[in-house]
Amino acid sequence: MTHTQFAADLPVSDVDVLVAGGGCAGFGAALAAARGGARTLLVEQSGFIGGILTRVGNPWFDGVAHLTTGRIALGGIPIEVLQRLGLAEPEQTHLDHPFLPIDPEAFKHVADQMLMEQHDNLDVLFHTSVAAVRAGAGRVDEVVLANKAGLSAVRAKVTIDATGDGDVAAWAGAPVERSVPMQPLTLHFRVGNVEETDTLTPRMREVVEDLHETGAIGLYFFHAEHDDFAHAPDELVFNITRIPGDGTDPADLTAAEMRGRKDAHVLVSAWRERVPEFRNAYLIYSGPSVGVRETRRIVGDYQLTEDDIRSGRRFEDAVLQGVFYVDVHPSDRAGTHDYDAWTPDPYDIPFRTLLPRGWDDLLVAGRCHSATRRAAGSSRVTATAMAMGQAAGTAAALAVASGSRVRDLDTQTLQNALRADGVILN
Ligand SMILES: Cc1cc2nc3c(=O)[nH]c(=O)nc-3n(C[C@H](O)[C@H](O)[C@H](O)COP(=O)(O)OP(=O)(O)OC[C@H]3O[C@@H](n4cnc5c(N)ncnc54)[C@H](O)[C@@H]3O)c2cc1C
Repeated sequence: MTHTQFAADLPVSDVDVLVAGGGCAGFGAALAAARGGARTLLVEQSGFIGGILTRVGNPWFDGVAHLTTGRIALGGIPIEVLQRLGLAEPEQTHLDHPFLPIDPEAFKHVADQMLMEQHDNLDVLFHTSVAAVRAGAGRVDEVVLANKAGLSAVRAKVTIDATGDGDVAAWAGAPVERSVPMQPLTLHFRVGNVEETDTLTPRMREVVEDLHETGAIGLYFFHAEHDDFAHAPDELVFNITRIPGDGTDPADLTAAEMRGRKDAHVLVSAWRERVPEFRNAYLIYSGPSVGVRETRRIVGDYQLTEDDIRSGRRFEDAVLQGVFYVDVHPSDRAGTHDYDAWTPDPYDIPFRTLLPRGWDDLLVAGRCHSATRRAAGSSRVTATAMAMGQAAGTAAALAVASGSRVRDLDTQTLQNALRADGVILN
């Protein structure tokens, strides 16, 4: 059975804008589309918003500010989120600490509130997956959803693919690419009741290296300076497991969950035995799900490159700024990864990177937008993905209101709308 055959006799609903995926990008997209007046449906396979922030328990909200000066490079919805979390003030121009952890539970709550405020024209369906797409001639006809009510179809004037994996784009037949091998999968885990001392990091590292050498754990990445006391003075969040695999292959995802949980248990047990600061420590939780850094990326009207980032290239159709370093993790060795800690100045991300080449009514936001692998190492981070979503949602609402194709939107009209909503553009 193909994805196309599935859509035949299902109950169908019509919306202006369908947002597939409720990670950072989908959250920004749905909110912006609904605030722009479009009847919007957001579908998310989990029971909450946030994607990697919450599904994977990665607390870092990166891409907001320049990493050395702390100057804020993004406005709009990401900053509004920080303000609602009490982590930024209106009119604030700099962050004291540009590597900013946010509490996933607080974020879930704030995101729910922000979405519910748009209840007049925004519907949210959690526990709902995009399962198939019916499309032809550069247009998405219907998106098939699967949830506890069974299968149904949605017809949208504009669809925004914010699945991270480009599910909608790929299943519709839009051009996508992947790099081989892809960056590794990671299961985060959180440990409580750890005593922080100066000797903690080297002691932990020694145990990790021993366990890897004996084959007790798989690949790993260990921070040179652990800055993982993100939530509480005695709690560590570990982004340490590295599991090769394809995040669009259910068998690989399953194996990665099991491998990651095994490594987490082995690590915490060994630290408890061998590191005094861990004597009374305990594993609070893992995941909930394994984290996927990289799968498909669309081939868009423009593909962002590392050279664009390094040269600070400016684009006439810029819709947000990126500001994070190029962070690409290897899947074939333990210990280190390839980021060179070189800090880019804010660079433009053009609207054309959200437009799959040859498609009229489809936008893509987040880590699957059109960028080379290295460029996506910077543009994929959480706050940047949220701002990208805001750009896509704003464009979708403008296209619906004017009856035009998203790719025919007047760039200045889009940029003016984004600026009016607080987005910082050069
Ligand atoms: C292990 C790890 C560590 C990271 N560390 C950092 C960091 O320190 N700082 C930082 O800023 N960024 C970090 N990142 C990168 C960053 O988190 C992501 O690239 C970013 O969150 C991308 O957002 P997104 O919305 O595009 O995708 P995602 O966060 O992947 O969200 C996609 C959403 O779509 C949903 N979805 C997927 N498929 C479907 C479907 N078919 N139907 C319905 N829903 C679907 C998913 O459930 C998910 O909620 C890390 C990523 C990983 C994996």
